[in-house]
Amino acid sequence: MLDKKIAIVGAGPGGLTLGSILQKRNIPFVIFESDESPEIRDQGGSLDLHPSTGQAAIKECGLYDEFTAISRPEGDYSRVVLPDGTVLRDENLKKKDENVNESVNSGDRPEIDRKDLRDLLLKSIDKSNIIWGKRVSEIRDDSSNKQKTIHFVDGESLQFDLVVGADGAWSKVRRLISDVIPHYSSITLVELWAFNVSKDNPELSDYTGAGTCFMIDENKSVISQRCSNDSIRIYVSLRVDENWQHDSGINWDTPEAARQQLVDGYFNECAHEIKDAIISAKDNLVIRPLYMLPIGYKWVHQVGVTLLGDSAHLMTPFAGEGVNTAMFDALELANAITSGLDLDTSLRNYEKKLFKRAKYYAKDTWRNVQVCFSKNGGEKLNDMFSGKLSAMIPMLLLYVYDTVTSIFE
Ligand SMILES: Cc1cc2nc3c(=O)[nH]c(=O)nc-3n(C[C@H](O)[C@H](O)[C@H](O)COP(=O)(O)OP(=O)(O)OC[C@H]3O[C@@H](n4cnc5c(N)ncnc54)[C@H](O)[C@@H]3O)c2cc1C
Repeated sequence: MLDKKIAIVGAGPGGLTLGSILQKRNIPFVIFESDESPEIRDQGGSLDLHPSTGQAAIKECGLYDEFTAISRPEGDYSRVVLPDGTVLRDENLKKKDENVNESVNSGDRPEIDRKDLRDLLLKSIDKSNIIWGKRVSEIRDDSSNKQKTIHFVDGESLQFDLVVGADGAWSKVRRLISDVIPHYSSITLVELWAFNVSKDNPELSDYTGAGTCFMIDENKSVISQRCSNDSIRIYVSLRVDENWQHDSGINWDTPEAARQQLVDGYFNECAHEIKDAIISAKDNLVIRPLYMLPIGYKWVHQVGVTLLGDSAHLMTPFAGEGVNTAMFDALELANAITSGLDLDTSLRNYEKKLFKRAKYYAKDTWRNVQVCFSKNGGEKLNDMFSGKLSAMIPMLLLYVYDTVTSIFE
C-alpha cells in the first residue's frame, strides 16, 4: 500500500470522484470541504456525463449501474429555437416518431442533477474520510520534511505528503503553485428556476422539452434546461461588462420586476414564448458572472501538490465539459497515484497530460462561447448538432493545431 498521507481539498465532483476511486483501491486519504454539510448549498442544475470522460470515471468508481438507474438519457434531447420563434430542431420529436427524418443525439450523454451525482459519489466514500465545515485558508511549504502544510481558517494546521487542490474556481491550493487567477469571461448568467412545471407552467415545460432548449442571438442566449423533480432552470446569458449586475439599473431585489426589465431591455424583439419563459420562471433568480482561467494555463510542477478540475482549468459551461473533465482528471490522478511508479514522476506525467487535455477543452469551450453569442448562432449550433462538416471544421483545425504543437512541446 502507498505509504503517503494524501489530502484532497474540496468535495465537488472532482474531489469526490478521486476519493471514491482511491477508496476502492484501498489508498487512505482525507477530504476537507468548507461546506458545513452536503445539504447546505444548492448544487446547481443538471449536467450530462460524456462516455469517455465523466462516465469512464463513474465506471471506475463502481457506480455505473446506479448512475444508469437515476440518470436521464432523454435529457440529452435538444431543441434549437430562433429569436423569432422558428423551431430549427426538436429532438423530442424522436420520442413521438422513431422514424423522424432528423439526426438526433443518441442519448449516450445522459443527464443527472448535480445533487444526485454528489449523493451517488458520497455514498461510495466512508463518512470518516470527509471532514465537512473545514475551510482551507492557505497551503504552505514550511515543513522541513518535504511535506506541505494545510492551514485552516479555524486555526488548525496539518501536514501531508500530497495535497490535491480540488477546490474549484478560487482555489487556495493553486495559490501555492501559481499567481494566476481567473478573469471575467465577458458573460454573465441570470439563472431562473421554475418548479412543478407540468402543473404550474405547462407552456414552459413544452417549450423546454425533455432536455435543453437553446435560443441564441447576438450577445445573448436563453438556455432552458429540464432538471429532475419536474423542475426547469433557465440560463439567461448576456455578453456584458463585469459589473453589469450593479450597473444595469435592474432592481434585483424585486425578481418579478427584474425579469420584466431583462425582457424589456434585451429580449423585446423575441417571440412571445421566449419572453414568457423568462417572465414565468419565478421560483428563484441567481446572478452568475462567469470567470475562466487563461486557455492553455499551466504551472511549474512542485513536489507534493497538484490540482484537478476547475482549480486547474476553470472554463465557462458552454461546452458542458467542466464536470466531465474534473471527473476524468480524478480518474487519471488516481491512476497516477496507484501506478506503482515514484509518486513525483507519476504526478509530473499526470500534469503533462492534464495540460494538453485542458487546453483542448478550454479552446472548444471558447469556440462555443463565440457560437452561443453570435447573430446566426442558432443555425451554427444546429449544424454542430447535425454533425455537418462546415460546423466540424473549427474542431478539425483545433485537432490539427494541437497535434502539430504537441510534436514541438
Ligand atoms: C451555471 C453553471 C452551469 C454548469 N453546467 C455544466 C454542465 O452542464 N456540464 C459540465 O460538465 N459542467 C458544468 N459546469 C461546470 C462545473 O460546475 C464545474 O466544472 C465542476 O463543478 C468542477 O468540479 P470541481 O470538483 O473541480 O469544483 P467544484 O464543483 O467547484 O467543487 C469545489 C469544492 O471545493 C470546495 N471548496 C472551495 N474552496 C474551499 C476551501 N478553501 N476549503 C475547503 N473546501 C473548499 C467547494 O465548497 C466545493 O465543494 C457549470 C458551471 C456553472 C457555473
